[in-house]
Amino acid sequence: MSDLETRQQAFARLFPDLPAYRQRQAAAAVFNVEWGSWTDVSPLPEAVRATAASEIPWITHNDHLIQESADKEAYKAALKLADGSGIETVLMRNRRGHWTVCVSSQVGCAMKCTFCATGTLGLKRNLNADEIVDQYRFWRRLMHQENMAGQITNIVFMGMGEPLANYEAVREALQQLLEHTDIGPTRITVSTVGLIPVLNQLLDDPEWPPVRLAVSLHSADQRTRERLMPTTYDVFLTDLAAWAERYLKQFKSRRRHLTFEYLMLAGVNDDADHAERLIEFAKPLGKVKINLIPYNATDAAYAGSPPDQVKRFAGWLTKAGLDVTRRRSLGQDIDAACGQLANKQ
Ligand code: SAH
Repeated sequence: MSDLETRQQAFARLFPDLPAYRQRQAAAAVFNVEWGSWTDVSPLPEAVRATAASEIPWITHNDHLIQESADKEAYKAALKLADGSGIETVLMRNRRGHWTVCVSSQVGCAMKCTFCATGTLGLKRNLNADEIVDQYRFWRRLMHQENMAGQITNIVFMGMGEPLANYEAVREALQQLLEHTDIGPTRITVSTVGLIPVLNQLLDDPEWPPVRLAVSLHSADQRTRERLMPTTYDVFLTDLAAWAERYLKQFKSRRRHLTFEYLMLAGVNDDADHAERLIEFAKPLGKVKINLIPYNATDAAYAGSPPDQVKRFAGWLTKAGLDVTRRRSLGQDIDAACGQLANKQ
């Protein structure tokens, strides 16, 4: 857990003698979109509300700046946290006309993927669970106040940071979201660079909620993946395959699959050989989905694969019997797309 005290911990510290149901009321209260401060929480006794209002921040950021994409399909917010750190979170319209919130799990990131803008920041610190769920609360409240149409139906942990490098806070955030929103576990996706020990840990952890997982594969060729993602060690792909088998065995159900994200980089990982490697890697695993991701420009010296090549690549995979989807990219004009979150503001 991050060393920042959470709201729940502060509440328990300030009101040690209150019965447990009051703690639960307080935990639920912050998710009530009608309320904007502790003073509003009418079910709590007056004195508790007053103390909470002066001692516990209602929300963990104290300033925000919103950018809107020209097509109004994506919004990015830069949030300023109590210690002055900045994080970014994105709200985007999905194909069904509902909304997906993309949350950050760390300030910066230590993984140093060579195509990602966040990686250039290095890791500043972990977020605590409140700072993670408050990104969702921020958008929910804003949509409510602005009377925006549609609901937030999905949450993706694809903002700044590596969620599995902040395991406990992410797990607690997931638990809070599942308990206090009507978003179910199959509508929440945690995306990871593939930290094998932590991936194994979560399979053994009864407290880890059954949310969807996506692994950023980006190449099934050892050398290429090493070049793209410095976290790749010599037997990474073997270990990942072994883990994936374990995962799929454990979550055997129609609704369960494992997603591999695959960034399409021109001349790097998008030719027939790379498709072959990917097929050899993914095919034996069974229920996996390959999500092809268009590259969003950063300062890195890469170019996205041309649409024709993406089509061809997808064709090879489909022909081999793999389940392929293509990610729509939103918010590029406001640097809100995957891999572009780097606190430019
Ligand atoms: N640390 C997590 C979440 C990162 S962001 C992870 O590694 O999965 C979510 C996805 O965006 C990841 O698959 C990441 O590799 C990808 N991404 C990073 N930079 C990108 C870029 N410039 N263009 C497109 N996708 C990018």
